[in-house]
Amino acid sequence: MTGRIVKALSGYYYVQPDRENGSAPASLLQCRARGIFKKKGVSPLVGDKVVYSVTENGEGTVDEILPRTSELIRPPVANVDQAVLVFSVLEPALNLQLLDKFLVHIEHAGIPAVLCLSKQDLAASGEKADAAREAARKVREIYEPIGYEVIGTSARLAEGVEELRDRLTGRLSVFAGQSGVGKSSLLNALVPGLSLETNEISMKLGRGKHTTRHVELIPLGNGSFVADTPGFSQLDFAELGIEDLGRCFPEMRELAAECRFRGCTHVHEPSCAVLAAKAEGAVSESRYEHYVQFLNEMKEKKRRY
Ligand code: GDP
Ligand code: ZN
Repeated sequence: MTGRIVKALSGYYYVQPDRENGSAPASLLQCRARGIFKKKGVSPLVGDKVVYSVTENGEGTVDEILPRTSELIRPPVANVDQAVLVFSVLEPALNLQLLDKFLVHIEHAGIPAVLCLSKQDLAASGEKADAAREAARKVREIYEPIGYEVIGTSARLAEGVEELRDRLTGRLSVFAGQSGVGKSSLLNALVPGLSLETNEISMKLGRGKHTTRHVELIPLGNGSFVADTPGFSQLDFAELGIEDLGRCFPEMRELAAECRFRGCTHVHEPSCAVLAAKAEGAVSESRYEHYVQFLNEMKEKKRRY
């Protein structure tokens, strides 16, 4: 039988059995992994599609891991179809450098990204509405031409939630974004009956928000799963080589073939197609600026170690 691992805890894997045609979803099966995986040095990951069997004691064993389409290291999830990057138009203020950092990480993992602009209600009224509107405009202006889909949402007004749900259908998505941008509120709006703790509630209880360290997939029905990933807010470029960086900016990746030099870093080289495109406004100032900042950060790191 086949299914998907939705949770891993204390040496157990929890498998959601695949639905037989039209049947009601079966409950999770608690499984051990076969010893053979350990010998081979592979371990099952949350997100893995697996072949399993039911043992006599009502538990199960994971017998085989089906081939993975992708594998994220942090958070550790296999077969991620897309990342939903959540950024609020306000509170916390939009941070485009952080947005580009997330995008680099996700492009490097080879996973499609969708941008979710949350707290759109703050653009409608209030003293900072202008700043919120300006933030929303900027994100669309910079990121839509590159090919990133931008979905505006307000969990408070339940706006954009259906559009986001459509985008999630049939896929395994990871939600990522700074703390406080409204990820838990959005997931609560998306999943009937889910009640993830939000910041308001944890403040009422007089403590910081409880963040789980294990990854868990939340089923949305229709074969959709989402993973909320608190650990994902600390990113560094440990696994990314300097030569990989340009390839993680899709608009530069395409232009690089036209640069005079192979391996052009698009900083000072003559006849650089990226620099030319930037001069014409075809590559955005802010994206280019962040690219150079990341490049320098990586060079600096290399010098120190
Ligand atoms: P997370 O840390 O990303 O999971 O964010 P939370 O869901 O805990 O939300 C952080 C804060 O933003 C809470 O005080 C929420 O009430 C507030 N918030 C969440 N969504 C919205 C929204 O759509 N509009 C407004 N105005 N506030 C929101
Ligand atoms: Zn170049």
